[in-house]
Amino acid sequence: MAASVEMAELVEIFQWKSDAEARELSDAEREHAGQEIADVLLYLLQLGSELGLDVEQAVLAKLADNERRFLP
Ligand SMILES: [Mg+2]
Repeated sequence: MAASVEMAELVEIFQWKSDAEARELSDAEREHAGQEIADVLLYLLQLGSELGLDVEQAVLAKLADNERRFLP
């Protein structure tokens, strides 16, 4: 639930911006986005640890699966 709240905080930075505006954030907005990305990642890493997962291996397996499924 905490990761979801942090993701919502990240989305909030972009929610009323056009695609072009979203690519031209102010320095303060970019810094804020970085803080929220860090919040999300930290909660996900904590969840992986609590579940006893090898998150690096899970990411590598998912990348390989995506490559097999979506690349010609
Ligand atoms: Mg936050």
